[in-house]
Amino acid sequence: MFDPNVQVRQNLKDIEPYKPGLSDEQLRKELGNRPLVKLNSNENTLGPSPLALRAMERELPRLHLYPDGGSDLVKVAVAKHHHVQPEQVFVGNGSDDIIKLLSETFLDEGDEIVTPFPTFSQYTFGAQVMKATVKLAPLRADFTYDVEALLAAVTERTKLLYLCTPNNPTGTVLKQVEFDHLMEHLPDHVLVIVDMAYDNYATDPERFQFNTGVLRHSNVCLLYTFSKLYGLAGLRVGYAIGHPEVFAYVHRVREPFNVNRIAQVGAVAALSDAEHVKRSQELVQASRRQYETLRESGMHVVPSEANFALIEVGDGKRVFEALRKQAILVRTGFVGLESYVRVSFGTEAENEACIAALREVVAHA
Ligand SMILES: *Cc1c(COP(=O)(O)O)cnc(C)c1O
Repeated sequence: MFDPNVQVRQNLKDIEPYKPGLSDEQLRKELGNRPLVKLNSNENTLGPSPLALRAMERELPRLHLYPDGGSDLVKVAVAKHHHVQPEQVFVGNGSDDIIKLLSETFLDEGDEIVTPFPTFSQYTFGAQVMKATVKLAPLRADFTYDVEALLAAVTERTKLLYLCTPNNPTGTVLKQVEFDHLMEHLPDHVLVIVDMAYDNYATDPERFQFNTGVLRHSNVCLLYTFSKLYGLAGLRVGYAIGHPEVFAYVHRVREPFNVNRIAQVGAVAALSDAEHVKRSQELVQASRRQYETLRESGMHVVPSEANFALIEVGDGKRVFEALRKQAILVRTGFVGLESYVRVSFGTEAENEACIAALREVVAHA
């Protein structure tokens, strides 16, 4: 008898499968037809860009054809958007895909990655799949970056160093001066991957921002996604900006048609939808102010530059369950953050409902 427990690559036994929120079907079962306030995955509550929707509809009759394997139209549009060359762009099936591909490209058994802690789980996942070792560099107590801790975690075996700014799940940003300091002291053999998934919601002028000068460093790569601001999480498109010499190797491990035809067309159209972008950004700014009112109730709301807020509530799991009974879904259970919930911003009414529920539940702890 074939025994997968014996045959499997043994390192996979240590990997916890990613726990997404409940599926649409599970939610229907649990909540029936009650309207769901879904604030658990940092999605864009305004929905997809209308321009993207129209472009994708027009593309449907061509679905019998393979997509462009190089995602050239996306590369060109992204390059124009960021004022770089198309060769400096790599397109993936979501930025999760790119994180895994970078791991497969650079990591061997025994190599190391450095990530902040807490942060997005996919960086660690990519390393574990490749039997690399994960070195955590804790953020400070107020969740700001500690560049010295990042530098101290680097060794000769370090291949990748991840930064996430604004950071998920804390919402805090890396400052430009901190990035500059890091790059000045970091050895060249470390590839720095800066995940900018939430950057277009940030407004702090001191934060690290992409400009073409960043690419004077040969060891920097930036990650962006269409899943958040552009409201296309279900479509799966993300991209990296970096050096063609790096991407030449990443192309060797990607699937030949990693980004589907609908996704390519939708992404290009979404990039041009300035109106949808502006509405999304304005809603997030307003939501941020709404959640800050929880501070008046004595709750610690971590200052956020993203489309979610990390809120200290005592027992995160208890609050999560209490909100779920009211059909309000938030996220909890981040390692080291057991006393917090992460709430994605919704519409004004959704935020109101969540804030009222939080006040009520936390007061009756
Ligand atoms: C949501 C998110 C992404 C986006 O991932 P996709 O695979 O593009 O949907 C990337 N990085 C971080 C930190 C995120 O929170």
